[in-house]
Amino acid sequence: MNIILIGSAGSGKGTQARQLVKKFGMAYFSTGDQLRLLTRKNTPLGREVAKKISAGELISDEIMEKILADFIDKNQNQSIIFDGFPRVLSQAEILKKRLANIGGVNLVIFLNISKQEAVKRLASRVICRQCGAVYNKNTNPPRQANICDRCGGKLYQREDETPQAIGKRLENFYEKTEPVIEFYRHQGVLEEVDGEKPIKAISAELIKIITLLDTEPN
Ligand code: AMP
Repeated sequence: MNIILIGSAGSGKGTQARQLVKKFGMAYFSTGDQLRLLTRKNTPLGREVAKKISAGELISDEIMEKILADFIDKNQNQSIIFDGFPRVLSQAEILKKRLANIGGVNLVIFLNISKQEAVKRLASRVICRQCGAVYNKNTNPPRQANICDRCGGKLYQREDETPQAIGKRLENFYEKTEPVIEFYRHQGVLEEVDGEKPIKAISAELIKIITLLDTEPN
C-alpha cells in the first residue's frame, strides 16, 4: 500500500507520518529529510540544494526523481508513506510512472490548515537535528528545552523558517501543490482531514482511514 500525506508547510505531515510509520511499519519517504541529508555533504549538489531550501524554492524534478528512484530501489516490497512528494503536477506524473508496477497510489491524505495557522506554527517550530522529530515551542514542546524526547538530539530552528522563506513556501503550496490535491481528488483517492485538530485526534482519524482501506475487499 502506498500513501501520500499532502498539505502546506506546517500542516503536520512529518509528525503524523512518523506515527503511522510506527503503527503500520511502513517505509518513510520524506523529501525534506532526504534533501537536508544531502545538504550536509559538502558537494556542489549539496550546496545548490541548501541554497534553494533556505530561500524556500523547489528543487528540480530531475534531482527529486533520482532521490525517489533510489528510495524505491532500496525499499522493494514495502508499503511507502510519502511526505513532501509530489509537490507539483509533474512530480505526480513521475510518481505514477515509478509506482506503476508496485501498486500505484492507494490513498492521499490532505491535512488541511489555514494559512494563518501555518505561519503561526512555522514560526515556533523546532526540529531534531538527529532524527527529524518535530516540536512546537507552544503547542507541542519537548520535555527538556532544546533536547529531543525521542533520541536526545539537539533541536534547532530550520533555516527556511524565516518570514521570507515561509512566504515563498506557502506561495508554492497554493500555486503548485493545490493542483496536485485536485488531481488526486478527481481520481477518487483523496481523503481530506482537518489539520487543526489536536495531534492525537488526527492520528486516530488517519489510523481509522488506513485500517478501513486495508480491510476493504479488492
Ligand atoms: P519540507 O521539509 O517538506 O518542508 O521540505 C523542505 C524544502 O525541501 C522545501 O521547501 C523545498 O525547498 C524542498 N523540497 C522538499 N520536497 C520537495 C519536492 N517534492 N520538490 C521540490 N523541492 C522539495
